Amino acid sequence: MKAIRGATTVNSDTAEEIKECVSELLLKIKEKNRLKDEDIVCILFSNTADIHSYYPAKAAREAGFVSCALFSSLEPEINGALQKCIRVMIITESNCCAEHVYLKGAANLRKDLSNKLNIAIDGPAGSGKSTVSKLLAKRFNILYLDTGAMYRACALACHLNGINVADGVSVKKFLDNINITVKYENGAQVTFLNGDDVSDEIRIPEISMLASTVSAHECVRIKMVGLQREIANKNSCVLDGRDIGTNVLPDAEFKFFLTALPEVRACRRTKENESKGINQKFEEVLKEIIRRDEQDRTRKIAPLLKANDAVEVDTSYMDIDDVVNYITKNIQGRI
Ligand code: C5P
Repeated sequence: MKAIRGATTVNSDTAEEIKECVSELLLKIKEKNRLKDEDIVCILFSNTADIHSYYPAKAAREAGFVSCALFSSLEPEINGALQKCIRVMIITESNCCAEHVYLKGAANLRKDLSNKLNIAIDGPAGSGKSTVSKLLAKRFNILYLDTGAMYRACALACHLNGINVADGVSVKKFLDNINITVKYENGAQVTFLNGDDVSDEIRIPEISMLASTVSAHECVRIKMVGLQREIANKNSCVLDGRDIGTNVLPDAEFKFFLTALPEVRACRRTKENESKGINQKFEEVLKEIIRRDEQDRTRKIAPLLKANDAVEVDTSYMDIDDVVNYITKNIQGRI
């Protein structure tokens, strides 16, 4: 007898999605292990508490696993554990060596068995990076890391403590007082500065320019890039920023550089601000975007730059779904 293991994740606790993901997982295990139906003695499922236990076993029956016993169980809740995860153990009569299969977000559970997926999305302010990255992360069921939020949190810390962000010596001295962490709640990044959730404060326009200035210091970049690499090394994720493809993850397999006309970017940012109750005139936003891009592009360390092997996507006349579909197809064509 052999036990073959596997796991996958889903975005939602719905019968249809679970059926699709469980079928995909079971059929992959069957195919990889060259299993015949009569080899399978039983299938044991366990799932995290955010999924109904009834669905995975039901999905297995519907996927054609009709002659083996099926068991379902609920896993204890573990703080920080992967969410919406379904694990499976197939007990077989066959003596072949077991090929375990870990798909989607669960690929992170067994890095030895599966490749990590890191997607680098760089580009200037307002090019659509964060919206596109969030949707891509959802589509591939992986994390989204907003690296700009880290520089923003760093700028906020300086601002709140009267540190001049342009003064590299003062920033360097103050850096040890800045502890930035990110957590994920319902798939969204929450950014903490010294334990406080600052996800909203870091979005005010004043912080954007301060973030650009503080991010030019080498000491700041070393600290932030260290954090970013730590997260990317442990997880499959989409990272958006200015230097992901060139500096943070130069070996990332999938790199994209989003661009758009400055007026289009300013228009998007003005609308985004409005939706958050921030009123800033279009002309002012445009001026700020141009000034910030110039500063980001011309700084000495890790400037805003397209990596040689990045795919450039001009999003000026594309809607978000078109951009996400284009990038998804490009990645799927290469996987
Ligand atoms: O992307 P976002 O507008 O939140 O970034 C704020 C600032 O942080 C940028 O203008 C840029 O100067 C800096 N940044 C960076 N490297 C990154 C991400 C952001 O220098 N990877």
